[in-house]
Amino acid sequence: MEIACLDLEGVLIPEVWIKFSEKTGIDELRATTRDIPVYDELMRMRLSVLEKHKLGLKEIQEVISELTPMEGALEMVDWLNQRFQVVILSDTFYEFAEPFMRQLGWPTLFCHKLKVSEDGKIEDYILRQKDPKRESVKAFHSLKYRCIATGDSYNDTTMLSEAEAGILFCPPQNVIDEFPQFPVANNYDELKAEFAKASIRDIKI
Ligand SMILES: [Mg+2]
Repeated sequence: MEIACLDLEGVLIPEVWIKFSEKTGIDELRATTRDIPVYDELMRMRLSVLEKHKLGLKEIQEVISELTPMEGALEMVDWLNQRFQVVILSDTFYEFAEPFMRQLGWPTLFCHKLKVSEDGKIEDYILRQKDPKRESVKAFHSLKYRCIATGDSYNDTTMLSEAEAGILFCPPQNVIDEFPQFPVANNYDELKAEFAKASIRDIKI
């Protein structure tokens, strides 16, 4: 049996922090790992900005609940569900992903957690483990599953390498240039075709 390992942001849903920054007008929250490469530094900055603007989990979830998955995402997940075991491997947090998961029919999601105080303030974040996407694929291998993985960015490349097949989905040009070994899908139809190609079974598109 084969597992389809999917990144979340940039594959099924928009980048949460960028959308949140647009909705709130707080420019500092647009920053990503491309601007501040050290993830801990980036997250500390985000948490202090949230505190400064008195934004807790409730306010963030309200904004996020107005966002929708990317066009065609639900159909893509449905297509995969009929042909593979689908698991989403993401570096987001359960508390942020929840409104999207509801819209996507609650697929299996492995990600991180936030530490939230009783009054709703986000105090800290808890990473589940180091390099969790790659470790998940390794774990699936130990369970004798074959893995086909897709993602859009740097934080997906170890997962893509570890899987039997890795596919880049709508990646930025620098990722395409640095990782020429992975095929690129530019839309969901191309992604379906790449999954079918990577599968050892006869997959009908
Ligand atoms: Mg992504």
